[in-house]
Amino acid sequence: MTQNPTDDRLVLTQGNLTQVAADAIVNAANTSLLGGGGVDGAIHRAAGPGLLAECRTLHGCPTGEARITGGYHLPARHVIHTVGPVWQGGHRGERGTLARCYHSVFELVERHGLRSVAFPSISTGAYRFPISEAAPIALREMRAALARLPQLERVTVVLFSAADLDVYRQALATAGVPTP
Ligand code: ADP
Repeated sequence: MTQNPTDDRLVLTQGNLTQVAADAIVNAANTSLLGGGGVDGAIHRAAGPGLLAECRTLHGCPTGEARITGGYHLPARHVIHTVGPVWQGGHRGERGTLARCYHSVFELVERHGLRSVAFPSISTGAYRFPISEAAPIALREMRAALARLPQLERVTVVLFSAADLDVYRQALATAGVPTP
C-alpha cells in the first residue's frame, strides 16, 4: 500500500477561484476565449474588460490547448485559459483530451517560470464530464507536473462545492494505491 501517494505541494480547497492570489489561475474557457458562463464568466467579471480585450487578440484556442494572459484586476498575476472537452459519453477521446488540457497548462507554467497555479475542475460543469472520472485524471497530471517541475511550489484545486471537494479528496486518497 502506498502510504502517502501525493505531495504536500498539492492542495485541495473549497472556494472561489477568482479570489485566489497565485502566479496563475486556470480558466475553463471555450474555444472562442471570449467569455462564457460558469467559472469563465466569473473570471472575466472579476478581471474586468482588459482581460476580454487581450483574449480578443488571441483568436481562440483549440480544445486541449492553453493560452496565457494577464490577470488584470484579479489577485492572480496571470490567467491560463484552457478548453476542456465536452463529455459525449466517453468514447470520443474525452479522457485523453482532458489530460492534455492539464499538460498544456503546465507547459505554460514551466515556460513562464510560474511557481503557483490554481485550477478549477475543468469540464465538470457545463461540459458535463463526470467529476468522479475527471478528478483522478486531473490529480494524476498535477502529480506528474509536480514531480517534473521543481520550480512549482504550489498547485491548488479550488472546488466550488463541498460535494466536489469530497470527490477530489476521495480520488486523492486512493491515488497510487494499487488495486488488488
Ligand atoms: P466547463 O465548461 O469546463 O464544464 P464550468 O465553468 O461550467 O466549466 O464548470 C467547471 C467547474 O467550475 C464546475 O465544477 C463549477 O462548479 C466550477 N466553478 C464555477 N464558478 C467557479 C468559481 N468562481 N470558482 C471555482 N470554481 C467554479
